[in-house]
Amino acid sequence: MVQAPLPDNEAVRVKALCQLNILDTAPEPAFDDLARLAAYICQTPVALVSLVDSDRLWFKSKVGLDTSEIPRDATFCAQAILQTGPLVVNDVQQDEQFVHIPLAQADPAVRFYAGMPLVTGEGYGLGTLCVLDYVPRQLDSAQLEALQALARQVMAQLELRRSLAELTETQTHSSDILESITDAFLALDDEWRFTYINRQAEVLLRRSRTELLGRCIWEEFSDLVDSAIYRKYQQAVETQTSVEFEEFYPSLETWFSIHAYPSRQGLSVYFEDINARKQAEAALRSSEERYRLLFENNPQPMWVYDLETLAFLAVNRAAIAHYGYSQEEFLSMTLCDIRPPEDIPVLLQNVANLTSGIGQVGLWQHCKKDGSLIDVEITVHDLIFAGKQSVMVLVNDVTDRRRAERSLLETTLLQQAILDGANYTIISTDLDGTIRTFNRAAEQLLGYSADEVVGKTPLLIHDLKEVEQRARELSEELGETIAPGFECFVHKIRSGGVEEREWTYIRKDGSRFPIVLSATGLRDSDGNLTGFLGIGSDISDRKQAAEMLQLQSMRSQLFAEISLKIRRSLQLGEILQTAVTEVQKIFQSDRVLIFRLDSESKGQVIQEAVAPGWSSTLDLKVQDDCFGADYLRKYRQGRVYTVNDVGTAKLEPCLVHFLEYLDVKSKLVMPILLKDQFWGLLIVHQCDRPRQWTSSEIELTQQLADQIGIALAQSQMLEQANLQSQELARSNADLEQFAYVASHDLQEPLRMVASYLQLLERRYRGQLDDTADEFINYAVDGAMRMQTLINDLLDYSRVDSRGKSFVLTPCSAILDRAIANLQTTIKVAHANVTCDPLPEIMADATQLTQLFQNLISNAIKFCSNQRPQIHISSQRRADAWLFSVQDNGIGIDSEYVDRIFLIFQRLHSRGEYPGTGIGLAICKKIIERHGGSIWVESQPGQGSTFYFTIPDRGGNSA
Ligand code: ADP
Repeated sequence: MVQAPLPDNEAVRVKALCQLNILDTAPEPAFDDLARLAAYICQTPVALVSLVDSDRLWFKSKVGLDTSEIPRDATFCAQAILQTGPLVVNDVQQDEQFVHIPLAQADPAVRFYAGMPLVTGEGYGLGTLCVLDYVPRQLDSAQLEALQALARQVMAQLELRRSLAELTETQTHSSDILESITDAFLALDDEWRFTYINRQAEVLLRRSRTELLGRCIWEEFSDLVDSAIYRKYQQAVETQTSVEFEEFYPSLETWFSIHAYPSRQGLSVYFEDINARKQAEAALRSSEERYRLLFENNPQPMWVYDLETLAFLAVNRAAIAHYGYSQEEFLSMTLCDIRPPEDIPVLLQNVANLTSGIGQVGLWQHCKKDGSLIDVEITVHDLIFAGKQSVMVLVNDVTDRRRAERSLLETTLLQQAILDGANYTIISTDLDGTIRTFNRAAEQLLGYSADEVVGKTPLLIHDLKEVEQRARELSEELGETIAPGFECFVHKIRSGGVEEREWTYIRKDGSRFPIVLSATGLRDSDGNLTGFLGIGSDISDRKQAAEMLQLQSMRSQLFAEISLKIRRSLQLGEILQTAVTEVQKIFQSDRVLIFRLDSESKGQVIQEAVAPGWSSTLDLKVQDDCFGADYLRKYRQGRVYTVNDVGTAKLEPCLVHFLEYLDVKSKLVMPILLKDQFWGLLIVHQCDRPRQWTSSEIELTQQLADQIGIALAQSQMLEQANLQSQELARSNADLEQFAYVASHDLQEPLRMVASYLQLLERRYRGQLDDTADEFINYAVDGAMRMQTLINDLLDYSRVDSRGKSFVLTPCSAILDRAIANLQTTIKVAHANVTCDPLPEIMADATQLTQLFQNLISNAIKFCSNQRPQIHISSQRRADAWLFSVQDNGIGIDSEYVDRIFLIFQRLHSRGEYPGTGIGLAICKKIIERHGGSIWVESQPGQGSTFYFTIPDRGGNSA
């Protein structure tokens, strides 16, 4: 079943139908006749004038049908009103659209339908004139045309009905119009008599119709004669033109607005009471005056400008005072003149968009006459001013406020910038410890975004163990229980303090870093605590530096200790013992040992320091292939070897076994090189745990191994030097013994040889031949020289063996004695020996005499052709006396200045200068016995100066 769609104009169509006032009215012959005619012409049992209401078909006329209405849905008529021409269904059973509609299903079923739409002049389909049959049929064209004509008749009837309804309504209304209009109305005839007075006129004139009808107005209202009203009425009638005026009628104390229209019959007068309006106008006038005063005297600048030209139309006093322009200047300017040039386009845009109304507020800048700019907040109000569409503007100068706002904003921005720019973590909390702000540095250092932590507790980023520890400390200190929570950070601050202490912060990823946290209270202007502020400074670097420093000082301390001990002992055993003990102490390791390499692959532990509880490895011999064939070669090249964790390191199984045997969990092995030769190993063991050897620990161990190498080298050198000096001392002693024994034992036979030779010489001189005499001379001379030599050697050997203890000796007396001993020699040579005052010193007087004697005799002996000049002097030095013996002799080549002090060393042949070459050697020995030294400064031919020092052991000065 197909529902007929609703017409497009359904709502107005139904309204038009209702306006006919026909629905549900009684049958009318005019319509019934037309229906009957239609049934007759079409030869159908049923004919209807059917009207389509919103939800039903209502039949104004029905032929052959009892019911007066049926539901609208699924009816032929509902479909028919949608079209302008007829709807004809010859056989409903054959028609898909209608075969299922109720009428087609009823008993008897409708088989035929032909309907003509009833369409108004406006195009509204109101219903149909239709014919129906219970058998299929066809209408011929004449029947159709007739049906169409009849439909037009029905429509004409309906139109007629509408017109009638309208007419009735108009009539009903017109009779009331004059009565119901709010204006008062009266009509006068050409004799000025009242012909009509409406109700309102009765009210306004306070007279009844019956009193006035037929009476002359100028008689009834005689006080109007010659009044303005009277003249206007006369004028209207005379000129036959309507008049319109307002006038006050004193008798009625009423203002009237009067419209009088002349006609041939007289005058029609409409009038109304305008007292209220007049009062309003008066009120308005006074209110306008008040507004003008308000405008004029308003303390804030105000003006009115022409919306079209933007010219100022009025300005108040405050505007003149504030902007600096005179009123004349203002009135010759436009709004553009007080705006910065860059604002003009926006201004014009805004003016164009200005919507009517009050209270549009804007924030602008205005220029004063002096060129200064001010920030203004303006309120606008549109109005008609002097007949022009205008805008009234109220100006509020907010320059100061804006400046304050800007500075506040700047301060806020500055604070934000400071917070964000700071290198410190800045975290603020509420009184209860809820995080309120978390600055950028905190975000970066801790790895949390502010959003993640704001609203949470700072304990999130703290080490709870530290907090617990702090709680215990505080509780003890204050004698009250402080819970291990946020209170630990702020307890002291609540009582007005500031607290700065080190804490550990924990990052989001769990890593930690040390900080110094300075916590303070946040207080409002009244001093009430409102929250807390924690400023944290990352001290990782500082800590690291401190640790480095500590390590550094530890290292220097270690070096100092080891070096000191090495200097003191110079013993190999002590060096190594010191090394292992100190390394074990500093590294807090469990075992430190020195492994000494004996041969290519064999060695043994020769020194160790072991923590209590761990086994000793001393004397442990190691010859193990597990270390690998190459390991010694690698150590030789300076390899450093660390095993952080024996358990996880990839080592040979036998090595692991070996290390496990020694309980080694971790080890550090450092070669010790002695003069670039691989000497042994310094080994550090950790037995209780694996250990990560840091680069600084490795470096430290390396430096220690170097130090040990150096110490070993020194000790070795010392040992050699000791051996050498012992050897030397022994050979010296042997030599002295030999010299003594030899010279002593040789003396006797030599004396005998010399005596008998001398006897031979005395007794047989001249008795033998000349040659024999010469030979005897040689023999005597040789024996004499040998005697001298032996005596000198004896003297030499006796310097040490027969030396006397040192006593305070006056050097001048000693010198005198030496000169006396040399008296003959000095005399023969005509030598001149002079001296400065000499000191008293602690010395062996005999040896000192011999010393002076040897030097002076040499000075006389090795003289040139001139007379020997010898001068002896002394000088005080820091801790010794310096003596000099100066001559003007032959001098000595610088090449030989050291050699001459060695025994038997002479620079000349005996023919040139006699001597044994022992004199200076004896001098040197005497001086060395006294703890001094001897040397010579000389140039050949320039004389020589022999210097010697004797330590000052407390003698008097010269
Ligand atoms: P001797 O005097 O028996 O030769 P010395 O040991 O006293 O032995 O001296 C060694 C050598 O030093 C001398 O042979 C001489 O060549 C040189 N000599 C010593 N004293 C002087 C001097 N005052 N001037 C120059 N040469 C000197």
